[in-house]
Amino acid sequence: MINLVLFGPPGAGKGTQSDMIKEKYNLVHLSTGDLLRGEIKAGTPLGIKAKELMDQGQLVPDEVVIGMIDSKIKANKEGNGFIFDGFPRTVAQAEALDGLMSENDIAISGMVALDVDEEELTKRILKRGETSGRTDDQNEDLIRNRVKEYNTKTAPVANFYEAQGKYKAIGGVGSIEEIFTNLCAAIDSL
Ligand code: AMP
Repeated sequence: MINLVLFGPPGAGKGTQSDMIKEKYNLVHLSTGDLLRGEIKAGTPLGIKAKELMDQGQLVPDEVVIGMIDSKIKANKEGNGFIFDGFPRTVAQAEALDGLMSENDIAISGMVALDVDEEELTKRILKRGETSGRTDDQNEDLIRNRVKEYNTKTAPVANFYEAQGKYKAIGGVGSIEEIFTNLCAAIDSL
């Protein structure tokens, strides 16, 4: 079993690379952003509450995303493993994830991070916003707010895995195939 955390700021290419990694390693892809957008689409109370925060580029509360991930881990723990995308986004989420994994007698194999600078991120997200239909991809101030949330609350999560000897970073600028090759090399070395 291999359980990966794909890490990086918004717009780093986590979604694109997760799809390719999921195919190659036969993993269950868990994106908290996608799960939250599913709740919004279904009009659930959780979705309505989360939308307010997402529309401001802020993180939703830890317990909300941890609860969603908990049920998905339980439902899929007999598979080949997981790729977590956009989660954990705070140190509290990372600690909770370790707890959920060990409750199910499994563990995180490692975190692989995609490095991309802020100007490139903003450019990419605005471009994605032309077709993604995501309102949070269409406003530059909102995008900068998401990157700020990432820098203050999410970036420290890298140290959490580094302290466990489970962290690798690679450059996230270049062709999709080139980045995928480097990611796979990092994953295989974990
Ligand atoms: P994403 O699709 O990963 O860019 O996430 C879109 C938005 O969903 C973020 O800006 C947050 O508001 C929210 N979100 C997604 N994942 C998390 C998480 N793990 N913790 C808190 N908020 C999240």
